Amino acid sequence: PKPQAGCDLLVIGGGPGGYSAAFRAADLGQRVILVERDATLGGVCLNVGCIPSKALLHVAAVTEEAVRLAAHGISFGAPTVDLEKLRSFKAGTVRRLTDGLAQMARQRKVEVIRGTARFTGPSAVSVALHGGNTRDVTFASAIVAAGSSPVALAMLPDDPRIVDSTGALELPFVPRRLLVIGGGIIGLEMATVYSALGARVDVVERLPNLLEGVDRDLVAVWTKRNAHRFDRIRTGTEVMAAEATPEGIAVSIAGEAEPQTYDLVLQAAGRRPNGANLGLDAAGVVLDGGFVPVDAQMRTNVPHILAIGDLVGQPMLAHKAVHQGHVAAEVAAGHKAGFDAAVIPSVAYTDPEIAWVGLTETAAKASGRAVEVARFPWAASGRAIANGADYGLTKLLFDAQTKRVVGGAIVGPSAGDMIGEVALGIEMGADATDIARTIHPHPTLGETIGLAAEAGLGLCT
Ligand code: FAD
Repeated sequence: PKPQAGCDLLVIGGGPGGYSAAFRAADLGQRVILVERDATLGGVCLNVGCIPSKALLHVAAVTEEAVRLAAHGISFGAPTVDLEKLRSFKAGTVRRLTDGLAQMARQRKVEVIRGTARFTGPSAVSVALHGGNTRDVTFASAIVAAGSSPVALAMLPDDPRIVDSTGALELPFVPRRLLVIGGGIIGLEMATVYSALGARVDVVERLPNLLEGVDRDLVAVWTKRNAHRFDRIRTGTEVMAAEATPEGIAVSIAGEAEPQTYDLVLQAAGRRPNGANLGLDAAGVVLDGGFVPVDAQMRTNVPHILAIGDLVGQPMLAHKAVHQGHVAAEVAAGHKAGFDAAVIPSVAYTDPEIAWVGLTETAAKASGRAVEVARFPWAASGRAIANGADYGLTKLLFDAQTKRVVGGAIVGPSAGDMIGEVALGIEMGADATDIARTIHPHPTLGETIGLAAEAGLGLCT
């Protein structure tokens, strides 16, 4: 039954999950209200995540490529950095996209309420509006897409020289020495940006390896290519204490006698879901460690309340949130839909990029699954050599019996743009022959996927 003073669908959170759900539901004829507490739509991804980081990473990659060209006979001289211009390039990139979202919402007649929503019952929320008033909204269905926030490490003091990814993306200044706490995707992407701007970078990672979960042979290529950025990469250890001093942030690392002093410290030690403060208990929705458990239809334990994106679990990635948003909107509109992605690709947009999807060789070994591993080193790719990227590597994993592709990983420039082909192959049940016999354009880096499949078939290229 449609409540009188409300909507068919209430969406909480205007990030990639939330706006995708709202737009899809509106396209399906639902009356949609979208509540967002920030000034603009787009969530973490557009405002303080994927997009601003990629704008800066693009600049970083071009800068370093320009420097590398000296070895090929073209020199530009040492780069100079105008932080103000760089900030406004980044801000302009974000603004174009968030303005576009606002326009798409208007076109679809999605009502956007600026404020913070909190459940007051199973079919009602109260929205604390920005002006100080509140507005009650009732709904037939709700999709909760409240996202996640950076984990704040308790041992770090409150000091402007200690930032999370949002603070780092503001580019407060270029530090002489930067400490990145956390050797995952976000930490290494920001390390890449600051290093290209001239900072010396140290990384501390609690786990035994950088980019834990990615096969070591790919990470080894990455680490070798990135050796120039880092003074020290410390894995398997952690920051014990930090003190703000006039000279910088003095950081004590487990197992080291002397603290190290840094001009800027980035904490990139993970993100936690924004499950608290939504009043989900008033709606009867259960939480599990801050995450909202959902089924394949993205329904919570309260069937007309659905949840998506970072809020429902790992991997915390925008493309996962978008897909779940579409599924949830279709389910809320009464369509038959389910989230049944076989794989979700991951990409570190560093220089070079690392991208991976599906089963890794490490996971296959650990689980005892019989796979065949095919590698194509880019030293044998004409395009990679021409591009100065002969160090890259493309790897495919095939099920030993069916020969179907079950995983893949690429390290090298544009790896993230190429991994989609492997994801498609896995989703379509492609085997090594399908991929090898697909004619890839020559000379491209994408060709290395076809060549890896040929290697998997035992064919010489
Ligand atoms: P969010 O984007 O977190 O959006 C949630 C929204 O809900 C926010 O706008 C928040 O203000 C709002 N909200 C929360 N509570 C309330 C409430 N009570 N009332 C109203 N509004 C509320 N992912 C990728 O796939 N590729 C990348 O390259 C990538 N790069 C990243 C780089 C960085 C630095 C960071 C931090 C993240 C990156 N991510 C990337 C992750 C990506 O940003 C997230 O996975 C994605 O934004 C999750 O989308 P979401 O819709 O679940 O939540």
